[in-house]
This record gives sequence, structure tokens and C-alpha cells, in this order.
Amino acid sequence: MWRKIDTFSLRLRLIIGIAALSALGNGGIAMWTSWKMQQLLIDSHKQNIEHIAARFPHDVELYSEMMSPVTGLQKAINNLTTTNIFLWVKNPEQKVIAKSITSDSVSNARLAELMSLAEMPIKPQVHQISQHYFVLCGDSLQVQGKMLGKLFVVQDITREQTMFLTMVRSVGIASFLVIVVISGAIALYIYRSLQPLRQLNQMTAVISAADLPEAQLSVDNAPSEVKELAQTFNMLLSRLSQSWEQERQFVSNVSHELRTPLTIVHGYLQSVLRRPHNLTETQIEALETAASEAEHTIRLLEDLLDLARADSGYLHFHIESYILNDLVAEVVAMAEQYSERAIKIEADIDSIQVKADHNRLKQVLLNLIDNAIKYSEPGTPILLKINQQEQEAIIQVCDRGYGIPLQHQSRIFERFYRVDESRHHATGGAGLGLSIVKTLVEGMGGKVSVRSRLGEGSIFTVVLPSN
Ligand code: ADP
Repeated sequence: MWRKIDTFSLRLRLIIGIAALSALGNGGIAMWTSWKMQQLLIDSHKQNIEHIAARFPHDVELYSEMMSPVTGLQKAINNLTTTNIFLWVKNPEQKVIAKSITSDSVSNARLAELMSLAEMPIKPQVHQISQHYFVLCGDSLQVQGKMLGKLFVVQDITREQTMFLTMVRSVGIASFLVIVVISGAIALYIYRSLQPLRQLNQMTAVISAADLPEAQLSVDNAPSEVKELAQTFNMLLSRLSQSWEQERQFVSNVSHELRTPLTIVHGYLQSVLRRPHNLTETQIEALETAASEAEHTIRLLEDLLDLARADSGYLHFHIESYILNDLVAEVVAMAEQYSERAIKIEADIDSIQVKADHNRLKQVLLNLIDNAIKYSEPGTPILLKINQQEQEAIIQVCDRGYGIPLQHQSRIFERFYRVDESRHHATGGAGLGLSIVKTLVEGMGGKVSVRSRLGEGSIFTVVLPSN
């Protein structure tokens, strides 16, 4: 499957860096070698025609002693002409007075083309005509102190140059292949070298707060740097685990210490409120507010205690099999006592079996019903649907309330997570209810989920084992 390339990854950067360096190194060496070879090749030809140009006046002088200067000139040219070296002499009026004679018509045509060149360098240079390469030079010709005109010497180096170009092409292809192979090998090597880091990353990503005490990272066959990193991570994990344990202990102790006196205060307030004969209207109202706040805080402390117990594995469940319909009726009756909302029950089957902790399931349903009441308008209906499918009992708490925006739905089961602080401030919740629900349901071997639409309502579904 196509994976998006991460342009910031260490792997990609190393591969690009090393491939670029090897391309530069290899390419540089190949280019320098080619250039050097070309220099050597051309220099040897240049020296050759320089030597011919230097020797030519002496030859002409020698031949001129025995014959006429023009015949001597031609004789000297014939003597130095080979299959790939051509000479010609032009008089000051630019007229060719002697030239190499070749039997080959192609060479003749090319010679005629070269002879028609207006300018010729004094120092030998490489010149290209269509697919042919020549080293050529032209200089004034003086014999016995007399200026005869200009001597031109040309060497056809097409064969050597073609061979050289073929070789350069082969060197280019070979360098390219070497770069590709080196880059591939480097990519593989880097992939393998970074494997322990990826392993470390994957192991760290799955560590949750619950696994902290046992979490240990170990990477086999890893370089010592990665092993050191794993050790440092392990030390960090154990420090984290310790502080997490201390925090849990602290929350548990504080909740426990506060719950007892607060329960007593709540009890006293209730007993005073039961005999309100000598209290004024305002005093009764103040005591009722105090009692309700105390009750609220006791519930919050109980939730915190439950979560702390669940975290340390001390939350025990008495799982038993019973009829869900009876429990739901009992819970609905309780909920209707403290709110004036009508709650409807819809059961597809008369006696649905459920395997769960009786009290904990009650707590779960009361929490969900409490939320349905809190987050919907007073006149809207609340429905509890229960059903059984194969080995599962399904409970749905449905409301036609405010609903939960999609982006919050996956987070509402987290501790202290509330959707809209300002909107729900009046409800007085602490954001612990749903995390308790999730902890309890999962502790009983079930799962809880939500489906909701903003402005239309929410459905919380609890699925528990049936038998
Ligand atoms: P709280 O104490 O705030 O009720 P909960 O954990 O029970 O904490 O719920 C977390 C958040 O989820 C709430 O603040 C609320 O925004 C949202 N929520 C829960 N139940 C409902 C519901 N039935 N309808 C709309 N929003 C809900």
C-alpha cells in the first residue's frame, strides 16, 4: 500500500544526503577522468601537428635546393601527408599553391571544406565538421628568409575521438549504475539501522497509565545508543509509575478522609431538616442548599474513590446472573423519585438475562439516566430500551436533549472531560460520571458507546454478557 513520504524523516534525510554525496563523488571522479583523458588525447595530437609545422620549412628548404620551390613545396607536403594528416599552403593572395593529394573522394571533400575556412588558429585546436573531428593550426611559412604564404596542418582524429566519446558514455552509465546501487544499499542499511528506533517507538506508543508499573522497553540487537535510550526510557517510566502511584494513593486517601466527615455532616443536616419546626424559611433554604452540596461532594468523592480503586486493581465485582428487566424497573423507579421526569422502558423480551454486578450496573444506569435528565429540556422524553442478542444483553439510554458534537464524542469517557464548560456549568458535574460508567462496564466484561447528534439527542449503549 502507498505510504505518504515523510519529508522530515531521518531516514529520508540520510538517504538523500548520502546519495547526493556519492553522486557528487562518483560523478566528480568520472568527469575529472574524462576531462583529463581528453586533454591527454588532444595534447598528443597537438604536439604531433606542431612538430610537423616546425619541421615543414626545413623539408621545403632541402627539396628547394634540388628542384623548383613550388615542386619542393609539393614534395614536402606529399612526404608528410598520411591517411589522417593533411597539409596545404596558401600564398598571400589566399590561393592554394600546394596541397595534400588523396585518392579518397570523401577525404577530398572534407579537405576542401577545411581549406575554405577563413580563420585558422596559430596554436592547434580541435574543430568539428558534421560527425568528424580535426586538430588544426595555420601559421606563416618562411623559407630561406622568404615569405611563401601560410602553412595549414590538419589531423583527422575522428576515430580516437569517437572511441573516447564511447568510453565517456560507458563511464557515465557505469557511474550512474554505481550511484543507484550504492543509494539502494544505503537505503536498506539505514532502514535496518533505524529498525530498533521504530521498535522503541511502537513499544512506547502502546504504554498506558495502567501498564506503567510493568512497562519495560527492551530492544534486541540494537546499537548501544538505542539501548541507552531504552534504558533512559525505562528509568523515566519507573519514575512516572512511582509518581502516578503516589498521586493515586493521594486521591484515594483524600477522598476517603473527606467522605466520612462529610457523610456525618450530611446526616446531621438531613436530621435537622426532618424537624424544621423552629427554623425560619431562609434557614431551611440555606440548610437544604448545604445538604444538596454535601450530597453532591460525597458523590464526587465516591466516584474518585471508585476510580482510584479501579486503577490499583482493587475494584471487585460480584458477578451474578439475574433478570435485567427487574433491575431496570427498580432503577427507573429510583430515578423518578429524585426527578419529575417520566422515564419509559421498552423491552423486546420479557426476561432478559444479564451477567453483571447488581449494584455496579445500577450505578451505571443511574449515571446515564442522570446525564439524560441533565442534558435535555424538562419536557422531553427519556427512554430505556433493553434487548438481548445472542450472548449479549443490550441497554440503551436515549434522550432528545442537546446532543454531543461529533469531535467530543470520543473524549467524553475521559476523566474530567466536559463538552462545554460554560453551557453545562449549571449542571454542576465534574466530568467523572462517564469515566466511571466506562470503568465499571469494562470491569464487568462489557462495553459502552455513544451515538449522538447535536440538537437531536443522544443514545448511550451498554452491552454486557448475557449468560
Ligand atoms: P458530567 O459530570 O459533566 O455530567 P460526565 O462524565 O457524566 O460528566 O459527562 C461528560 C460530558 O459528556 C458532559 O459534560 C456532557 O457535556 C456530555 N454528556 C454526557 N451525557 C450526555 C447526554 N446524555 N447528552 C448530552 N451531553 C452529554
